[in-house]
Amino acid sequence: MINITLPDGSVKPFENNATPMDVAKSISEGFARNVISANFNGTTVETHTPLTTDGALVLYTWNDKDGKKAFWHSSAHVLAQALEELYPGVKLSIGPAIENGFYYDVDLGDQTISDKDFKAIENKMLEIARGKHDFNLRSVSKDEALSLYKSQDNEYKVELIENLEDGTITFCDHSSFTDLCRGGHIPNTGIIKAVKIMSVAGAYWRGDEKNKQLTRVYGISFPKQKELTEYLNLLEEAKKRDHRKLGKELELFTFSSKVGQGLPLWLPKGAALRERLENFLKKAQKKAGYEMVVTPHIGQKELYMTSGHYEKYGADSFQPILTPSEGEEFLLKPMNCPHHCEIYNAKPFSYKELPKRYAEFGTVYRYEQSGELHGLTRVRGFTQDDAHIFCTPDQLDTEFKNVIDLVLYVFGSLGFENFTAQVSLRDPNTPDKYIGSDENWEKAEAAILNAAIDKGLNYVVETGEAAFYGPKLDFMVKDALGRNWQLGTIQVDYNLPERFDLTYKGSDNELHRPVMIHRAPFGSMERFVAILLEHTGGNFPLWLMPTQAIILSISEKYEKYAEKVLNLLENDEIRALADHRNETIGKKIREAEMAKIPYMIIVGENEENENMITVRQHGGEDLGMISVEEFSQIVDTEVKKTLKTFK
Ligand SMILES: [Zn+2]
Ligand SMILES: [Zn+2]
Repeated sequence: MINITLPDGSVKPFENNATPMDVAKSISEGFARNVISANFNGTTVETHTPLTTDGALVLYTWNDKDGKKAFWHSSAHVLAQALEELYPGVKLSIGPAIENGFYYDVDLGDQTISDKDFKAIENKMLEIARGKHDFNLRSVSKDEALSLYKSQDNEYKVELIENLEDGTITFCDHSSFTDLCRGGHIPNTGIIKAVKIMSVAGAYWRGDEKNKQLTRVYGISFPKQKELTEYLNLLEEAKKRDHRKLGKELELFTFSSKVGQGLPLWLPKGAALRERLENFLKKAQKKAGYEMVVTPHIGQKELYMTSGHYEKYGADSFQPILTPSEGEEFLLKPMNCPHHCEIYNAKPFSYKELPKRYAEFGTVYRYEQSGELHGLTRVRGFTQDDAHIFCTPDQLDTEFKNVIDLVLYVFGSLGFENFTAQVSLRDPNTPDKYIGSDENWEKAEAAILNAAIDKGLNYVVETGEAAFYGPKLDFMVKDALGRNWQLGTIQVDYNLPERFDLTYKGSDNELHRPVMIHRAPFGSMERFVAILLEHTGGNFPLWLMPTQAIILSISEKYEKYAEKVLNLLENDEIRALADHRNETIGKKIREAEMAKIPYMIIVGENEENENMITVRQHGGEDLGMISVEEFSQIVDTEVKKTLKTFK
């Protein structure tokens, strides 16, 4: 008998050679039908692999990340088989599962694949899938493995096998198809019910442009047709919400090849949006006891040698700037922290004066390869909503909770309701990897965990994921399309206070090291606006909207009345515009809809006579004829729904 430990901690005895599927069936037949992959003692195994020792077993369904991985990995085998059948002589290289689906890199010789061939590949894959072929893993000797691929003249697989140790090589068979593979399959091809070939692209063998260019075929598969349809709809919706597209349509930002790649230019509407976000955070930060500071965009190379950032950014980022007089070297600021440490160092502090909380919308510059740049999410210059808190170890607990409050306030005001937190702790088995005393680490980790529990966060703990200089808490938000984004980091740091020799005078009259907390609820203004655009599709919360209302006059005759309404709205601090153009009201409404303006105010003869306005909401809802006062009230209520006062 063997003892199998399940994720809930329960231990059950099983016959020697019981398989993961046997264990699944012992839980329930219904559950077993959904199990598609398994992990035993940290290693991926097949669902029919006999288990011969005691150990911990995790069973995966399609709903698990590892379940999807096995599903897509197995689908890549089916794709390879389909390609072999449709393109005789094709040479297979590698075909892994990826975040969404899978690909296979193949050498097609003088054959080609284009969009119009996708349907045939999908059909062939589905035909194979319907055969309900089992995936079977078998060990082969290195010679055996080499001889198969040498006989096929497949130099790619031969190269892969040559780098493997004899005795560790396995093949996977399904139907009449065999591939070199380490394992991790779904039980059989039959559960693949829907397949889509997404695209083809060129890919150099082993990612090296000196090597031959292969064809990469991207695909995705699902256990239900409905899920494929939903996925494709989601992609369509994501395309519409692409922040690069919306940023252009809403005239928020642009890029110029003359200015340089990855350097965003904020247009007036975008700059106003950004200013509103900054003011929103500044206001809350002021209440939370932060003080604003301002630091330059460059710093002496020595500053970053002291901080350790030179090691990280020196060679692989923007190169030091030399000055006409010799011996001076400056670096574009990759981080604001070193500057803030020197602000702290400007005068001595006693424990009674701590914590000090220095905040800055600090612009930093980091080199990214041009291929890595992406809209506002990967740029070379960006502004962090940065702050550094310097406190005593005993204050860490309260400070951490306060920062979480601030982050949750930011998320709530911007409509991010779905988020989780990740707490990264040190690996207790390798204490040498970390700087700072055990006592301080224990204090900091307890402070973070307490804060997470106290604030009712939905969090996961990742042991060993802490940085060498301190534990941290990261927020992951789920956007309206279900995509995850990392936003908002709170990080404890024992390293920089040490490197910059930061001190405060304790109650014992001795000098002590303060603890430093880095935090940025938005992360960066650029990335945050990008995520907000994709989350809201450009329909920002009303308080943030560049234009909240537009007055559409039915004809020039009512221009005067429209101006009067505009004045009243401005008095009520509603951001409004007036459209007096000699265009039809239908056209004006369509354009205001396109610009995603939340309220359209129509004024004509009736409205003027009654001293009223007719209001239509973005998306079509009619609020009828109301007074300007009533409208202001509606706007005020709507704004307060999302934008609450901090604390
Ligand atoms: Zn495989
Ligand atoms: Zn920092």
